[in-house]
Formats: sequence, C-alpha cells, structure tokens
Amino acid sequence: MLNKALKQWFGFDAFKEGQQAIIQNVLDHKNTLGILPTGSGKSLCYQLPTYIKQQPTLIISPLISLMDDQVMQMRKNGERSVSYIHSGMSFEEKQKNLKRLKHSKFIFLSPEFILHQDNIKWITSINLGMIVLDEAHCITEWGYDFRPHYALIGEITKRFKKATVLALTATAPLHLKEDIESIVQSEFDVVKTKMSRDNIMLSHINFDNDAQKNEWLKAAIQTTGPTIIYVSSKKKCRELAQMIYDEGYLTGIYHGDLSYQERQTVQQQFIQNKIPIIVATSAFGMGINKPDIRTIIHYHLPVSPSSYIQEIGRAGRDGQLSQAISLYQPDDYFLLETILFADVITDDDVAAMFAGVELPPEKQQIIKILASRYNQEEIQAIFKVSANRKQEGLLKMMGYKNLKTCRRNYLMSYFGESVSEIEHCCDNDQTVESIHVPNKKKVARKMDYLEKLNQIFI
Ligand code: ADP
Ligand code: MG
Repeated sequence: MLNKALKQWFGFDAFKEGQQAIIQNVLDHKNTLGILPTGSGKSLCYQLPTYIKQQPTLIISPLISLMDDQVMQMRKNGERSVSYIHSGMSFEEKQKNLKRLKHSKFIFLSPEFILHQDNIKWITSINLGMIVLDEAHCITEWGYDFRPHYALIGEITKRFKKATVLALTATAPLHLKEDIESIVQSEFDVVKTKMSRDNIMLSHINFDNDAQKNEWLKAAIQTTGPTIIYVSSKKKCRELAQMIYDEGYLTGIYHGDLSYQERQTVQQQFIQNKIPIIVATSAFGMGINKPDIRTIIHYHLPVSPSSYIQEIGRAGRDGQLSQAISLYQPDDYFLLETILFADVITDDDVAAMFAGVELPPEKQQIIKILASRYNQEEIQAIFKVSANRKQEGLLKMMGYKNLKTCRRNYLMSYFGESVSEIEHCCDNDQTVESIHVPNKKKVARKMDYLEKLNQIFI
C-alpha cells in the first residue's frame, strides 16, 4: 500500500533505505527520530504521510536558507500548498504567506516565530497531523546559548496532542534521543541507517602556521572541483576569498553578517556552478541540495564530530567519490576555544539573573526565554551539560588531528557506529586518491594599454 502511494505521489518505484520504516511509524502515530544520511530522502518521510493523512504538517526549520531551499524544491515538484515565513522576507511576502498559511499542507516556520506571543495562539488553531523537527541535531548541537527557543519546543508540541512528532537528522550523537524526549516530554522510536558516507574520503594535514596553509590551499584548489572551504572566523572568510580571487578563481563568501540577499546570491551562484569555490562559516550549507560538491576543506577544524560529519556530508550527494580535508595549525586551538566558550552562560550568570542582577543583554535575554519554562536549577543544569558536551566534542577533534588509525572509525565511534573496511577511506589507511576536477580560472586580468586600444578600436 505504501509503495502504491509512493508511486502515486512521487513517481518513485521503491523507497530508499529507512524511509518506509519512518513513514510507517508516523502513520502509526509513533513519535520518531529518523537518522538517515544526507541526500537519502528525509523530506519524503514527512511529505508522503502528509499526502496520505490529508492533514497539514508543520515543519520547524532552523535556517532561512534551508526553508528557502525546501520550499523551492517542493514548488518545483508542483506542490503549491506550501507556505513559510522568515525574517529575510519583505513585508508583502510575509503578508502573502500569512494569508496562505492556514490553508497550506506544508507550513515551514522557525521556533522563534511560532513561540512569539502574537503567533502561538492562531498557530494552535491549525489542525496539524504532524510536526517535523528538521535538522533535529540543532536541538542540542548549537546549544541553548545560541537558540534558546529550541529548548522550548515542548511548548509547541504539547499544544498539538494529536500530532505525531517526527525528528529528522543526518547526524545524531548518542544523547540526541534522550534530549529530544526530554524537550518534547514523550518517547521516541529511533529509525537509523548508516551515518557514514562512504564516498567521502577523509584526510587531515597539520601545518606550523597559516602561511603554510595558504600555500597548500592555493595549489590544492586547482583541482578540487566544486569546493566549500569552511572557516571559523568572518575575517578569515574575507581574507581567503581575496587570496583565492587573486589566484584567478571566482569565489564568494557566506557568513552570518551578510544580508539575506547577499547570502542568497552567493548560494545560487555556487549551486549553478557560476563560482567553483565558496568560503563560508558554518552558517552555510545545511540542506543545500547541490549534488556535485567534490571537496570540503576545513581551514579550521570544526568544534565537534557532529559539526564535522554535518559539514562534510554536503559533498558527494550524487554518490561520486569526494573528499574532505581538514587543516590545523597550533594557534587554531585558541580560536576554537573562544568560539565555544567565550559567551558561555555560567552558574553564576543564572544565579545573578534570578537575583535580579542586570547581565549583558544577550545573556539576559537567553536566560529570560528559558525561564519561561525552566527554574533556576534546571537552567543551570542545561548549561552545565551543554558545556561538558562542547568540551567533549572539542577533545575528540583534537584527537582527530593527531590520529594514526582509521579516521572514519574514530569519528563514527562518537555516534556509536562501527564501520566496515572500504576502498578510499582515509589518509591513514593510505587508500585515498586526490580528486582531480580542474577549477577554471576566470577572473578577468587587468588589460594593459595596448590591449585596451585593440579591444576598443579593432
Ligand atoms: P535529505 O533531506 O535526506 O538530505 P532530500 O529529502 O533532500 O534528502 O532528498 C534527496 C533527493 O532524493 C531528492 O531529490 C529526492 O527527490 C530524492 N528521493 C527521495 N526519496 C526517493 C526515492 N524513494 N527514490 C528516488 N529518489 C528519492
Ligand atoms: Mg533535508
């Protein structure tokens, strides 16, 4: 019966691994955590049940770019009954979507928007059949010091007692199930296939300083094909893009401080192969459906195995051999530590706030949001657990840079997954080959006087 529905709604002959089990669970009203690798068809796991149930589905989505991408894909496939609202939209667009929203089959919103006091009431009046937590690792991975509303998702789900909750992600650390269960206050079934993406080769290189990294990078990008270079600072993002441009390649930068329009433009240029290389912070890439990304370079190591697996998972969605190369030099450690712990909320911060002491506005606001649901001790516990996990993730990545054994095995063990021996696995197995897809140099060279004359007059 499900196969028939799949054919009817999507024209596909067979389910991909894991899809059917997830869909069956959802139709049986079981809250489910679906862990399927990037590109394995997670969206269909909520789309098909929505068609079968003929009831609207709310998709809680963490990123504007992700919403844009999903909505665009669905509309391209002919689905008109989709609405979404985010902060990058114009006032008119928002109004248009607001009108459509109550009658849509698929509704994409951020937790912040839903929980806003002006919205939660009327959203509650929608007769939802399902609530989807897309990219569900964000619930714990980003930490509540960044997106505190994720800790309040239970406030949304409890208003829809009849709706089944489906959490979807490609990277689930072992504690994710427990975290989701505690936030949603309900049990979850887990459907998991393999997380390891075997067509992505893993390598790591240690350097003494950035100058060495840059020399390596200049040579490497000649043949890395469509490439994302991840960096952990906006300043480095600009510097590297300039360097790559000076080398003659078209490139773009992507980070959180750019306007929505700027980010959209760069993303589209990259997806359409108008620029071969993009230099980005971790704000880029989630849910991006570009099949032929051949190389992911981490100029700075990411802060945890989860971030790493997420970010390299953007390569090779087409199944072709791809590569993930991480770089490190000793000063990077301080950068990573700063990213993770500079603005961390401590026991004292929480205690001070509850005692009525004024904190820096950002911290103040985060604790205030959490305090709408949790008491002082609970909030302190939330941040303690979060700090421990950050530390644990960082340590694991520090181990990665010195690793002499199989990299895949080391990373996957963090997720409780054992790996089988494969060809082209990692540099420590000595079976990697370099990708050799030339990147064209396209930046126009400055013309000299005679050349200019020739172009104008001849
Ligand atoms: P994910 O969210 O897991 O990264 P998507 O939901 O974006 O992946 O799906 C990736 C691609 O796989 C899409 O182009 C989708 O149409 C396709 N797809 C999904 N399910 C099937 C299926 N059963 N058979 C063939 N293609 C599928
Ligand atoms: Mg997806």
